[in-house]
Amino acid sequence: MWDGRATDLIVAISLREMKLRLAERDGYFGGYVSCGSAAIRDHDSMFKRITKYGLAWLLLIASIAGCSHAPEPSGEPARKPSRTAKKLPSSKSPAPGSPRTKRTGVPERSDPREDPPAIPESPGAAPADPPAEAPEQEPEPKPRRSLGDLLSRPADSAARWIPELPRMQVDDARAAAGGIRKLSGKRLTLYTDMPPAKAVDQLPEVFDRAFVQWCEYFRVDPAQHPDWSMTGFLMKEKARFQQTGLLPGDLPSFKNGYARNYTLWLYDQPSDYYRRHLMLHEGTHGFMNTILGACGPPWYMEGIAELLATHRWGDGRLRLNHFPTGREEVPYWGRIRIIKDAMAENRGKRLVGVIEYSASAHLETEPYAWCWAAAALLDGHPRYRDRFRQLAESVRQGDFTERFYRLMHDDWDQLCEEWQLLVSTLEYGHDVAATAVDFTPGEPLPPDGASVTIAAKGGWQDSRLRLEAGVEYGFTATGRYQVDDQPQIWWCEPGGVSIRYYRGRPLGILLAAIRPDQPDPSGLCGLLRPAVLGLRASLKPKQTGTLYLKINDSAAELSDNAGELKVEIKMNDE
Ligand SMILES: [Zn+2]
Repeated sequence: MWDGRATDLIVAISLREMKLRLAERDGYFGGYVSCGSAAIRDHDSMFKRITKYGLAWLLLIASIAGCSHAPEPSGEPARKPSRTAKKLPSSKSPAPGSPRTKRTGVPERSDPREDPPAIPESPGAAPADPPAEAPEQEPEPKPRRSLGDLLSRPADSAARWIPELPRMQVDDARAAAGGIRKLSGKRLTLYTDMPPAKAVDQLPEVFDRAFVQWCEYFRVDPAQHPDWSMTGFLMKEKARFQQTGLLPGDLPSFKNGYARNYTLWLYDQPSDYYRRHLMLHEGTHGFMNTILGACGPPWYMEGIAELLATHRWGDGRLRLNHFPTGREEVPYWGRIRIIKDAMAENRGKRLVGVIEYSASAHLETEPYAWCWAAAALLDGHPRYRDRFRQLAESVRQGDFTERFYRLMHDDWDQLCEEWQLLVSTLEYGHDVAATAVDFTPGEPLPPDGASVTIAAKGGWQDSRLRLEAGVEYGFTATGRYQVDDQPQIWWCEPGGVSIRYYRGRPLGILLAAIRPDQPDPSGLCGLLRPAVLGLRASLKPKQTGTLYLKINDSAAELSDNAGELKVEIKMNDE
């Protein structure tokens, strides 16, 4: 469905060139910088050659085989070459002598509740094959499977509306006799064998509130869908549902949940949060298939479902599209943990690698995390949000992803840099909007120097100054600003606070980075190679480019900062 088969040869060739170009810049990337400015892992040229020629061969083989889809993992080849990279001291580094740390500076302990369930079936689920004596009904015909089916079928939902599939009818009396009770809401009728509990019984209410927000997000008028509702099955014991005909045999096997037209199926999950999350995820697929007609290609389908399923619920209020502020808020969700672990293992995924995920990728959990991160960036970033939301109008179009590339064409390279910055510094509570980067190129430094004001609240800030490679510049920074407000205001100067650390450096210390005039699109974003300035420093850039400045703080901890600092920059005398 999403093979993107181009009818026009020229379009096909240019698309392949584009994909090759994108893929070339897009293997995996990993742990990036060490402390200080110089210890960077650059993309080595051998790696680029391997990526380039490997992809060229794959494309050739794919075209011989008649497959018009670029080989799935434009980002995959980089998994293989081994590289000697210096690892970034992570936020796990304890603050030396720190009596207390900022939230993100707290050494992270592995918390099993952060791990998304990766079980083939839910706990307590019956074996896949029902007991021989159990079914009284006719055995369901087993769906025919081919390798093509497995590779093209989304793992947890139909990807579009299935016409001529009759709506599932439930015999309430038979269900009740089988130990399955009915929970009724306006937008969801949920059948479950779970015992009564507040977190279960309120699921239809959560779903009702979600419907309003789905309508708002996708610009759908709820008045046009007064009777829209789905039927759901929340299963603790799979066999009960099989025996009562509520888990049809023509459904593909699924790990956690599945949605098809107006019906969704869920296995119970190990936390109240993750059970709701799964319902909202499948509900998003159901909403899109029944109202928009389709979910789009895998990266978008799963990215949007994860974006809108990630939520906050309490006191009868629901907020979809919530960026979790802490792992305790989202037990068993684990998307941020998955990305942080992958980054620590040098398995950072390039954006194009996420965009090119095939449907079968989502048989694993990790792609859900990368798709969520891509959607969270595109939807949370002020420069991309409108374009990203506009895509929802194209979910039924076979060239959806090409439309996406066209929409992002003019600032694609910057988007890839923002992606690298996000996934390299991702935190619970990451403020995507506050860390958005202005990519305006700098002007040459005036002969008598310049002064720049930097806000403590921001991420990398464009000085609008262009520094020359090989020239030594002197920096002097002054100012007093706030880096925390709990339990009292923490004041800081450009030298940082030496008893609290973030990423191995004093919290609040002034950092600088040069974004080259001609960034290597296959390389590491220049802003991931910061140098420490502090109160006073000299810097001789290796590449000519625009100077960026920020204070050292987590992207999740900017909202409690206030004030600014002044940085004087001049050319040092020879
Ligand atoms: Zn899904």
